Amino acid sequence: MCGVCGIWSPAMADPSEPARLMFFALYALQHRGQESAGIAATDGRDLRVVRRMGLVGQVFAEPDLGALSGRAAIGHTRYSTTGSSRIENAQPMVVRDEHLGELALGHNGNCINARERRDELIAEGVQFSTSSDTEVVAQAIASAPGATWDQRIVAALPSLAGAWSLTLLTPTALYAIRDPLGVRPLCLGRKGDAWIVASENSALETIGAATIRDVRPGEVLRIDDRGPVTIADLAADRTGLCVFEHVYLASASSDLGGRSVYATRERMGEILAEEHPAEADVVIPVPDSAIPAAVGYARQSGIPFREGLIKNRYIGRTFIQPTQELRRHSVALKYNALRDVLDGKRVVVVDDSIVRGSTSGPIVQLLKRHGAREVHLRVCSPPIRHQCFFGVDMAQRDELIASRMDETAIREHVGADSLGYLSLEGMMRATGATRGELCTACFTGDYLVPVQLELTKDVLEALRA
Ligand code: AMP
Repeated sequence: MCGVCGIWSPAMADPSEPARLMFFALYALQHRGQESAGIAATDGRDLRVVRRMGLVGQVFAEPDLGALSGRAAIGHTRYSTTGSSRIENAQPMVVRDEHLGELALGHNGNCINARERRDELIAEGVQFSTSSDTEVVAQAIASAPGATWDQRIVAALPSLAGAWSLTLLTPTALYAIRDPLGVRPLCLGRKGDAWIVASENSALETIGAATIRDVRPGEVLRIDDRGPVTIADLAADRTGLCVFEHVYLASASSDLGGRSVYATRERMGEILAEEHPAEADVVIPVPDSAIPAAVGYARQSGIPFREGLIKNRYIGRTFIQPTQELRRHSVALKYNALRDVLDGKRVVVVDDSIVRGSTSGPIVQLLKRHGAREVHLRVCSPPIRHQCFFGVDMAQRDELIASRMDETAIREHVGADSLGYLSLEGMMRATGATRGELCTACFTGDYLVPVQLELTKDVLEALRA
């Protein structure tokens, strides 16, 4: 994933405001990436950038926000998809053109032909300093033909394939761009005279901005003192927002395609209860992501909702820590179980997804150690059998437990008394969208565009070595 945000405020506005608003907007996008954070800002002449490894609250100190004062800013929270987790790959990334000056870029997604584009650009004499596909996007724009950034952006994008929600900043304009497939979200908002774009509208609300609309698939929006103008429409014939945004990635407090994510997740839980009922005494969520789904399951089934697991809110999303070893330990570090709720009970535990299968087993064991008599695992999405090439670091295909095992084997592997997955049809029904409006490739293998199956997160890293 990754969170992106951009703010353009009019010439007369308080110069300390964009960076401050950005800081709080990035806090609201922290769930989309916890490895590094950064802000690039402009005073209309130069670009300044602060980016470091760590959480938003650790990355920026008061003097940084002072140094970033100006009229516009872009910001980023990173979770690595292509390129490893290290400071050179942190964003916003800046490229320089001798005629047009500097361009800062923040990217959420994954450019699936980054390797080929990189080779082509190197053959043209472009030098690369990082292993990230974002630098390929930035250099493709910087070296495209055209006398203005507008022209270069519009010329470069058709040569790139995959997913990108981009914010670009030059001293004279902010750009918000969604890939032609519309895989990652991006929306436009307004606060007073300022224009704001963000991955999710909950970040707009956090800073008191009103949501105006989604940036459309393939839309290239330029924002300056004259307001937002669509300078190109590159939408593909087939588009699809990632359904996993509905399942897990987006904040429950956001809207996707005009629908509340919380309400969609509740509905998923209700449909799951219809599809996979259980004889049980209590329904508990795996917090936090499955809370709305467990509320829905409990309401539909009539089984009382209780909290049986308490999550340490300071430990972060286990998945985002990049090694399997860290992930394995963090399951135990992350949850405490409530014996009062669980002792002697038949428990339905609702989670949003099973990916590698490393979370579910320890959770079932934790519940049983705290007295659960039976544990019925209910999962609010279908089995994940296919790798994501469009910006979710899910795992290689052979690491996905459902690509190797059938449901009976998975149930035995995690030690649950029963296991039920939401059907594809049930998940789609809960989102209110049609198959043509969403990318469901991780469940179906039906990718929006052809993908190279051997593409891995570290492909550019390996080339650099
Ligand atoms: P796993 O242990 O690999 O099966 O991961 C499943 C758990 O990770 C579930 O509890 C999800 O809430 C969470 N999860 C699923 N997908 C992701 C993702 N792409 N990034 C971070 N966490 C995830």
